[in-house]
Amino acid sequence: MVTVVIGAGIIGTAIAHDLQKRGRQVVLIDRDGPGKGASFGNMASIAVTEFMPASRPSVWRQIPGWMLDPEGPVRVRPSYMPRLVPWFLRFLAASRPSKLCELEAQGAALCARALPDTLALLRETGLEREISDEGCLSLYTDEAEFKADRDHIEILERFGFEHEVIGRQAIKALEPELSDKIGLAVLFPQNRSMKDPYKLVLALAERFTALGGRIEKAEVTGFVRNDRIREVVLKDGRRLPVDEVVICAGAFSAKLAAQLGEPIPLETERGYHTQIMAPGISMKHSIIWPARAFMVTPTAGGIRVGGTVEMAGLDAAPDYRRAKVTVKRAKEALPNLICDDFTEWMGHRPALPDTVPILSASARTKGLFYATGHGHLGLTYAATTARLMGELVTGAQPSLDLAPYRIDRY
Ligand SMILES: Cc1cc2nc3c(=O)[nH]c(=O)nc-3n(C[C@H](O)[C@H](O)[C@H](O)COP(=O)(O)OP(=O)(O)OC[C@H]3O[C@@H](n4cnc5c(N)ncnc54)[C@H](O)[C@@H]3O)c2cc1C
Repeated sequence: MVTVVIGAGIIGTAIAHDLQKRGRQVVLIDRDGPGKGASFGNMASIAVTEFMPASRPSVWRQIPGWMLDPEGPVRVRPSYMPRLVPWFLRFLAASRPSKLCELEAQGAALCARALPDTLALLRETGLEREISDEGCLSLYTDEAEFKADRDHIEILERFGFEHEVIGRQAIKALEPELSDKIGLAVLFPQNRSMKDPYKLVLALAERFTALGGRIEKAEVTGFVRNDRIREVVLKDGRRLPVDEVVICAGAFSAKLAAQLGEPIPLETERGYHTQIMAPGISMKHSIIWPARAFMVTPTAGGIRVGGTVEMAGLDAAPDYRRAKVTVKRAKEALPNLICDDFTEWMGHRPALPDTVPILSASARTKGLFYATGHGHLGLTYAATTARLMGELVTGAQPSLDLAPYRIDRY
């Protein structure tokens, strides 16, 4: 059985590793090599408390205000607006109260498994030291700010995710560098972070090849199929005969899915990070400040500051002013942060309008599968996705009902 996995981000690499372990002969194809896409520079967080649909009212009501603010957390490039309309209409459709309840349950079902699955994968591959033991702090200046984020906490309570509200003294004891402006915080102990998400992909890719898997650096440009998937066509002219194909090309999956007759409403939510090598402070926990829409994570190479969403498509050049805004905000929380020695990066979050990923067999072609659209949570969902896709592709009983994650749900 030859199984081709297209895309060696964290999703494709974790799936390739799982399938190779289950006895498939797997070829993992990526045009740039493992881990150079969104999985390179994300915020490293196993963010199990962040599964809420982006289409909930407390978020979308703020969108018009954000759009008018050049430093706001969401930016749509004016030239890209017309192309975004169909995606945005689906996003609005996903904001109906009954739909929101379903989407919350679907995200929570994945997040409930995410930390145990990640820890199991790390143990199995000898990478358990790559994750921190500390949780994440969600910051608020005062009660009013906390109340504005109350729906987030209520959803976590409904689904039983651990959290603890703490006051100024406890905050200072956990993270002495945090500003006195922060009057209240919520500690999410299960929300842990990786030391370096890129290294994690490389290490998994290494384990995959040690199990007999093969990595090909090539671009997939087409397919040959009838009722079954038959061949994968590469840019260099080669054609690989295949028994099975899994599409996990991140934000680029839509192009491949359209060629396969299964268009999906997948957009890129472009995000930025600033990696600060000598920040002048040290931190144990990652922090999120919902009202300022940024995150800071202590990583192996210093401190990483990131966040923001920019809708501008796959081809537009990065606008690093977005990264500078998040550093400016991070300094409000961390007044001693020094940002002299840094690098900036932009990546494409593969975003579906209803926030839950596609984990699915093709509705049209036998032997074809999709695992994409992990949005803001690709690192979080990777180990669980790999297990579920491993079960789905090999015909084992899925450990979660995958009906809500079907490709033909739109
Ligand atoms: C700023 C930022 C912060 C984030 N923070 C977090 C976080 O803290 N926690 C979290 O869980 N998630 C986070 N995410 C989201 C997470 O990074 C993504 O969901 C995840 O990396 C997606 O993984 P992927 O494997 O699907 O895609 P990618 O990592 O983008 O990989 C797709 C791969 O497909 C390849 N490819 C594409 N087309 C082809 C083709 N035709 N032929 C061959 N190869 C192809 C690309 O080269 C690429 O390597 C963040 C994202 C960003 C941008």
